[in-house]
Amino acid sequence: MTQNKGISNNILELIGETPLIRLNTITKDLPGNYYAKYEGFNPGHSMKDRIALHIIEEAEKQGILKEGSTVIETTSGNTGFSMALVSIIKGYKCILAVTSKAAPGKINMLKAMGAKVYVCPAHVKADDPRSYYEVAKRLHAETANSVYINQYFNHLNTEAHYNSTGPEIWQQTKGEITHLIAASGTGGTISGVSKYLKEQNPTIKTLGVDAFGSILKKFHETREFDKKEIYPYRIEGLGKNLIPSATDFNVIDVFEKVTDEAAAHRARELAVTEGLFAGYTSGAIIQATMQYAEQGMFNADSKVVLILPDHGSRYMEKIYCDEWMKEQGFFDSQKHAHQEVEFI
Ligand code: PMP
Repeated sequence: MTQNKGISNNILELIGETPLIRLNTITKDLPGNYYAKYEGFNPGHSMKDRIALHIIEEAEKQGILKEGSTVIETTSGNTGFSMALVSIIKGYKCILAVTSKAAPGKINMLKAMGAKVYVCPAHVKADDPRSYYEVAKRLHAETANSVYINQYFNHLNTEAHYNSTGPEIWQQTKGEITHLIAASGTGGTISGVSKYLKEQNPTIKTLGVDAFGSILKKFHETREFDKKEIYPYRIEGLGKNLIPSATDFNVIDVFEKVTDEAAAHRARELAVTEGLFAGYTSGAIIQATMQYAEQGMFNADSKVVLILPDHGSRYMEKIYCDEWMKEQGFFDSQKHAHQEVEFI
């Protein structure tokens, strides 16, 4: 790993080259071998560091970004943090238009990373001038030498994973990977990695993870936009209510949907079984792995790589908070008894 190579010139040199870690306990009843590509090891604690660096460096090559220029995006999540991080080192301003639904802690995190944050009303239509899409578009139009990242509709998002995450997994498994399991939000990760891996070995199967309440699985199966599939759900970062052009549905073999509750429990189980403190979608990926295994997807020779997108620290107010779990009706006092805090 780059991390062991002595002095780094700046934090951006530590993006990527994340570890692949064997799962020893949580998958012990499943046939085959399971490995976690743990993206929480990136300096910004998620795989979005990879796309931030790639998209910003491509804009530099095209002469759009120069010192003092501005990077604009519409997310309070992992991508916002990564854009802010890369902007600091590169000397760019970072503007993030976020919805008023974003938790105060998230906005504080982006401010801590030097971003200028615009909080936009959540319950307005996408084409309302106050919506975060419209605010970002307007700021982009008004700001010279700015780049609007627009990750859902930017092929460089997918390319970042084709160039880095895909080759890393191929090398780390010495080309022996048989199955890839990844979440799909923008689709950048699953599409870029799958395209690279299938070019090396077309027999590799790519298994997508979607949420109940999202359109992706149904669209993959029918190529129809069935609005009935869309309803609110809790998992953040996975699934979608629109079809992102960053997703290449042709390189995904199948999708499996998971529930909010099962995903939350699996994330907590991953922490206490493997010591991997990862995010909500990582729990979704573990749950989907169990569902795929139940369907007979794997055998004793399977070498399955699960991409765990981010670190658990982003979810302290949610899946790692017992109060939040109770509010959702997810808390299982027997399961979590050993984690009870005792006040002396
Ligand atoms: N998990 C988390 C926590 C994310 O933030 C995202 C990005 N929206 C994803 C999974 C999905 O990754 P991608 O956008 O590359 O499909």
